[in-house]
Amino acid sequence: MARSNVTGFRCVLCDSRRPADFTGYTCPDCGDEGILDVEYDYERAALDFNAEALAANPRSDIWRYSAVLPARPPEPWPGLPVGNTPLIKATRLGDHVGLSDLWIKHDGLLPTGSFKDRASALAVAQATERGVSIVVGASTGNAASSMAGLAAPTPLRTVIFVPDSAPAPKLAQLRTYGALVVAVQGSYDQAFDLCLAATRRFGWYSRNTGYNPVLSEGKKTVSFEVVEQLGWQPPDWIAVSVGDGCIVGGVGKGLRDLRQLGLMGRMPRVVGVQAEGSAAIYQAWKRGAKTADPVTPDTLADSISVGQPRDAVKALTAVRDSKGQFVTVSDEAIIAAGHLLGHHAGIFAEPAASTAFAGVLVLRQRGDIAPDDRVVVLVTGNGLKDPQTTAQSTPEPLSIAPKVSALDDVLAAVDSR
Ligand SMILES: *Cc1c(COP(=O)(O)O)cnc(C)c1O
Ligand SMILES: [Zn+2]
Repeated sequence: MARSNVTGFRCVLCDSRRPADFTGYTCPDCGDEGILDVEYDYERAALDFNAEALAANPRSDIWRYSAVLPARPPEPWPGLPVGNTPLIKATRLGDHVGLSDLWIKHDGLLPTGSFKDRASALAVAQATERGVSIVVGASTGNAASSMAGLAAPTPLRTVIFVPDSAPAPKLAQLRTYGALVVAVQGSYDQAFDLCLAATRRFGWYSRNTGYNPVLSEGKKTVSFEVVEQLGWQPPDWIAVSVGDGCIVGGVGKGLRDLRQLGLMGRMPRVVGVQAEGSAAIYQAWKRGAKTADPVTPDTLADSISVGQPRDAVKALTAVRDSKGQFVTVSDEAIIAAGHLLGHHAGIFAEPAASTAFAGVLVLRQRGDIAPDDRVVVLVTGNGLKDPQTTAQSTPEPLSIAPKVSALDDVLAAVDSR
């Protein structure tokens, strides 16, 4: 595939178009808020993106979907493989919660432990394509460690701006991958703005969610994988947790792509799940608004604790277009959902990832999701990212004396489980 199938970029705010060779990040008329959406020649893309061609494609990572991606991977792909995560039928967990066709897409198994790798892979490819040697981002969380990890085996260097209040454990993965971590004496928003300034001033490549349009193009590959793994029989529901809204927007874009490519008759309903204490996009959806007003975030699910969501427009579009819904869940429900995932499916998910399953339980209880609906839950992050929070309020270890007689207590405890 020599020529790219990208036909241009459309601004999500003002709808104006830029040509395929546009290399800016956001809409010049709308500024930093004018996020772009990548458009393709789907007729041409369908020559390579169809069930037969994909069945014959030996490539298993996200680059098997290159026909509708905006960058080409360096050949050979350097380092960590991204994509092809397992889609697991959760029979026992489904029995437990009254869902007979429940599936878990386990993106906690991506190389750096979170869904963000799908976006970072695109950043690696495009930065390399453009001959830029430094990638910059602002985050203390999964986006930053993902970028640093995927860049580590390549010649790219990573610079990450964080507020100087960033907790040390969150920086551990980042530092191990060798990123240059810059602690800004200020707030997260100031770190973000400084990061954009570095992009403009030094020409560094920006890996900022809700700014660089190729990131959601990477995220959409999860929808391709889910539907392909289900033998092109789309689920009734796909549930995703939502912070900035980039993942859910990407999921929606992937589904729309599949429809354009003639690979999907019926659209799954997309469920965006937010923590009650960080529900700016949910509130905008309730109001019928196109953009979200800021909130003061308060949730223990740190990866979705967001005050001013940067990708609200794409998130709202994804859910509305699919006739899906947004739903909120309490922190207690998030932790409880994580325990169910662990207990009955063997899946250790960080709180921001269990959130999606908590939302499914709400819709099941309301009767919106029927017992035999096919439901896919996206697990976006590994429980090892935040083990203390994930495991909170699970039973303490049973403490016994080092004597054989104490084993009777163990037997009693085992029987009571
Ligand atoms: C980033 C992230 C999310 C939310 O993605 P947004 O694009 O911010 O909505 C959910 N779960 C995990 C584990 C994440 O790292
Ligand atoms: Zn615009």
